[in-house]
Amino acid sequence: MSQHDLLTLDAVHVSYGPVHAVRDVSMAVAPGEVVTIIGANGAGKSTLLNAIAGLRPLASGRILLGGRDLGPVPAHRRVGLGLALSPEGRRVFPDQSVRDNLVLGAYSKREGSRQVEARLAHLFELFPRLKERRQQAAGTLSGGEQQMLAIARALMSEPSLLLLDEPSLGLAPMVVQDIFRIIRTLRDLGLTIVLVEQMASEALAAADRAYVLETGRITITGRGRDLLSDPRIRAAYLGVH
Ligand code: ATP
Repeated sequence: MSQHDLLTLDAVHVSYGPVHAVRDVSMAVAPGEVVTIIGANGAGKSTLLNAIAGLRPLASGRILLGGRDLGPVPAHRRVGLGLALSPEGRRVFPDQSVRDNLVLGAYSKREGSRQVEARLAHLFELFPRLKERRQQAAGTLSGGEQQMLAIARALMSEPSLLLLDEPSLGLAPMVVQDIFRIIRTLRDLGLTIVLVEQMASEALAAADRAYVLETGRITITGRGRDLLSDPRIRAAYLGVH
């Protein structure tokens, strides 16, 4: 950990009553890094991401963004500080158009519509499929397109840190490749990303560094590429024995 980290977690615990979903998690993310958190079903990945976003309270520990303690900052104000979450299951507004879903992602209603239009134009360059379908109801998009919309909506607030919760969930393998291509493009643009994934091989290949979460604790950490060839990871998460 260093004072230059964008995100710092210090001994974070999160509980649901008696269930200790996240236990003593410390981690750091430097500006421009893509960090992935991999782990099995129920390991606590979503809980951890939701705690960073301010959607779950901490039982103990601290989360800092740019050195600032997020403890007293509610979720909606964290967006204003540069945090954006693309949640598991996408959660787009199905009856609203693609464009309206994106506009809802813009943080402040006080901002002039010209700024919102400029962001839309930028995102439509990154996501041409969304541009083609901008007037279409979001619920009529394919699963992959809805995932792209969820990512684009999070980007509308121009975050310094993007939290992506299982973007590959329920998507066909070719579509998963499209999503990871987008993640690599965002990385190349310099965005800092925390990526929660069950698709360990793709996530490790796309990430600079990784943390492995097992029943709420970090058990292994290292460079993404190194972990791809780590025998423990290969046996437990890549199905290679
Ligand atoms: P998945 O990939 O299935 O989403 P995950 O790694 O994201 O798994 P979490 O969803 O964070 O795991 O769940 C971690 C633990 O907390 C699990 O044991 C789960 O049953 C429990 N848990 C999650 N949400 C709740 C809740 N709302 N109430 C009680 N327990 C919960």
